[in-house]
Amino acid sequence: MENRKFVAVPHKTFIALLLLTGTVCLSLTIPANLQFSQLLGINRSKIKEVNAEANNQQKFAEFQTAMEASLNEQFKRQNLLSGAPTSFNGKIIYDIKPAVNKKVIALTFDDGPWENTTTQILNILKQNNIKATFFVVGSALQNNPELGKQIVTEGHVIANHTWNHWYHFMNPQAAAFEIDQTTKLIYKLTGVKTNLFRPPGGHLSNGLVAYARSKNYATLMWSADSRDFQQPPPATMVNTVLEYARPGGIVLLHDGGGDRTKTVQALPQIITKLQQQGYSFVTIPELLEMEKMSEKSEK
Ligand SMILES: [Zn+2]
Repeated sequence: MENRKFVAVPHKTFIALLLLTGTVCLSLTIPANLQFSQLLGINRSKIKEVNAEANNQQKFAEFQTAMEASLNEQFKRQNLLSGAPTSFNGKIIYDIKPAVNKKVIALTFDDGPWENTTTQILNILKQNNIKATFFVVGSALQNNPELGKQIVTEGHVIANHTWNHWYHFMNPQAAAFEIDQTTKLIYKLTGVKTNLFRPPGGHLSNGLVAYARSKNYATLMWSADSRDFQQPPPATMVNTVLEYARPGGIVLLHDGGGDRTKTVQALPQIITKLQQQGYSFVTIPELLEMEKMSEKSEK
C-alpha cells in the first residue's frame, strides 16, 4: 500500500509537468496576436469550405446525371429518325405498302461520300427541301469525313454500305469487319448508330446479309433502279425511275463510286417529275415507319 502512494505522487507530478511543457510549446508555436477562438474560426471556415465543396460536387453530379439523361434522350430521338423500327430487325426490304393516300417514295444514294458529286446532290436536295438516305462506303467516308457529317447535319439519313464494297464471298469474320467498321466510323463521325444496311451490288448470299441479319440490321434493297451506274443520258435515267416508281418505293441512285455527273444532271428532273405525279419524298426510316403505321391501322 505504501508503495502505491509513493508511486502515485511522481505520476501526478509527471502529468503536471507534461501539461506545462505542452502549454509552453503551444504558446511558442502560435503567434502572439492569434487567439484560440481565431484558431477555431479558421477551422470552422475550413469546414464551411469543405461543405461548400461537397455541395458543389453534389450539384455537379446532379448536373452530370441530367446531361447524360438528355444525351440519351437525344440519341434515342436521333435513332428514331435515323434507323429502322425494331419490327424490321433482320428483314430484307424492297419497298413498303404505305398507308392509304400516301404517295411517298424514298430516294437513296449509294457508294459515297464522294468529292464534288455528294456536295452537288446535297445542294439539289436542299434547294428542293427533300431528305434522302445515303448508304455510305466506310473507306469513302474515311476519305471524306466532312461530307459524311454534312449528310447528317443537313437532315439526311446515313446508313451502312460496307467498308470496301466487295462482292465476293465473305466468312463471318470478314463480313463483321466490313459492317462493324463502317457502323463504328459513322457513329464516331456523326453520333448516329445505324441499323440500316445495303449489300453492295444487292448481293444477298455472299455472307454480308447473313451477318447483318444476325446483328439485327434491316437490309434495304430497292424497287426502282435508275441504272445510273451505266451512265445513260439523264433523260433516260429520269424515264427509268418514273417507269418503276410506285408509292412506298425505294429509288436507287449513286453519289459516289465513279463518275456521277449524269446522276447530278438527272436528279432535278427526277424530283420535278415525281412531284408532278403527286409524290412526296421521305427517308428510309420515315418510309418504314409508315408501313408500321399502316399495319397498325389495318388491324
Ligand atoms: Zn454500292
